[in-house]
Amino acid sequence: LLEADALSVVYKTSNGPITAMQDVSLRLGSSDFVSVVGPSGCGKSTLIKVFSGLLKPTKGSVRLGGTSVDQPRGDVGIVFQQPTLLPWKNVLDNVLVPVRALGMDVPAYKKKAMDLLRLVGLEKYASHYPNELSGGMQQRVGIARGLIHDPSLLLMDEPFSALDTMTRDHMSIELQRIWMATRKSALFITHSIPEAVFLSDRILVMSAHPGTIVREISVNLPRPRT
Ligand code: ADP
Ligand code: ADP
Repeated sequence: LLEADALSVVYKTSNGPITAMQDVSLRLGSSDFVSVVGPSGCGKSTLIKVFSGLLKPTKGSVRLGGTSVDQPRGDVGIVFQQPTLLPWKNVLDNVLVPVRALGMDVPAYKKKAMDLLRLVGLEKYASHYPNELSGGMQQRVGIARGLIHDPSLLLMDEPFSALDTMTRDHMSIELQRIWMATRKSALFITHSIPEAVFLSDRILVMSAHPGTIVREISVNLPRPRT
């Protein structure tokens, strides 16, 4: 599904160029769940920006479903580190934000939005506003929003890092359940190795200066049956 070849990203700064990523290649099949772990500054967020089409790599190429990723596109969903919900929109309308942004028919997606809210356990909160929800609930709205336009790839940039430890553990289990129900290809960035081991088929370990993949680990934990 996703093919990234020999990606390098060099940021130009007032103190000269910074190589954020060097010669990174990876493959992601459909229904793969792959985590990326590594220290701060190793280029994890840069990788997400390149895969979402927000940032053009200095070198190398990214293809998704056989076509080049050179701008933001509708077959990618993103879950951010902060939930970034719009406070003046209710939960249902927040889930529908990508549909509106992509110029698709909003009323046609209302049922899908409700189905996704049910999937993330928030169907009772559709008409609530973000400030009425806990952090974990807001991040679950973020996951529903990332899936609303039926992307083939879901990118998640440390989605649980702003949550407390207990909510975080709970959210890992929730995310595994959501993934089992949707089987979307997922690229999950995390600082937490236990989280990566629990959720992934494969773990890519990055190191910094410059950001490269230094190790790839296959995980063969049994998954619960759906
Ligand atoms: P991570 O997400 O793993 O913490 P990042 O992708 O944010 O890493 O950053 C990788 C490297 O690139 C770091 O050295 C960081 O300082 C640098 N960097 C990230 N974004 C920019 C930017 N917009 N301009 C300049 N340097 C950047
Ligand atoms: P999460 O683990 O998803 O962050 P919490 O542990 O914060 O959830 O909350 C547990 C439950 O308490 C939620 O599923 C919800 O039913 C209820 N709840 C939490 N915060 C609020 C709130 N601000 N308003 C209404 N219900 C809430």
